[in-house]
Amino acid sequence: MHSVSPVGYLRSCFREKFAIPRQPQLAPAARGVVELLPPFNNGEAVDGLQQVSHVWLLFLFHQALEEQPRLKVRPPRLGGNQSIGVFASRATHRPNGIGQSVVRLDKVEAGCLWLSGIDLLDGTPILDIKPYVPYADCVEGAHNHIAATAPATIPVDWQPEALQQAQLHARRLNEPLVELIEQCLAQDPRPAYQQPLPERRYGCRLWDLDVRWHYPQPQHICVLEVLPAA
Ligand code: SAM
Repeated sequence: MHSVSPVGYLRSCFREKFAIPRQPQLAPAARGVVELLPPFNNGEAVDGLQQVSHVWLLFLFHQALEEQPRLKVRPPRLGGNQSIGVFASRATHRPNGIGQSVVRLDKVEAGCLWLSGIDLLDGTPILDIKPYVPYADCVEGAHNHIAATAPATIPVDWQPEALQQAQLHARRLNEPLVELIEQCLAQDPRPAYQQPLPERRYGCRLWDLDVRWHYPQPQHICVLEVLPAA
């Protein structure tokens, strides 16, 4: 039995699980900051990272921990109705609850790493950080027939007022909010089995905002409002 403890915690644009992309890099405008804990927060531990464009984050799926390990899971990628072995998937419910993501490293400060392209929830405990090593981590000729390509995206439109609200909050937050909303919703966050009726409203929390949308057609999103979270 070993125990591990976080080296830091992530402050992320994603304030709830719904609408987080299923892998990193799918929403380049998704940003966050790893706030390192002592003794890693004095600059020494990140010395040299300025020479690196991307890092691996090893982290705890702290909002998906379970007592009983699952042997089979039903990945959303397979429509949620087909099961595969837990080790053949990147599902959140897994032994030890450990996740891994390659993310862009935008800025290094003593005690803080500024990241983008993340797929992690706000408050995620970070267990380790490693530099991405292109010659070793990018495997030529590799295949995965379960997830061969990035998930298909769907078009995202805006109600004019919702776009104005997003632009306003983008300036206030100094964040690429319009891009973030478009990139996340283009992934079509709704469960595959759900037929979205046009009158049904969906919502998620990004930064300190509630984003609401609907599906005027089954494969088409329209953003309805972007308002301060209640
Ligand atoms: N890239 C990682 C991996 O392969 O280990 C994560 C893949 S997992 C399929 C991505 C999903 O994890 C996101 O869509 C989000 O819903 C969920 N997630 C992110 N951070 C989490 C956390 N701290 N606790 C529980 N679920 C989380």
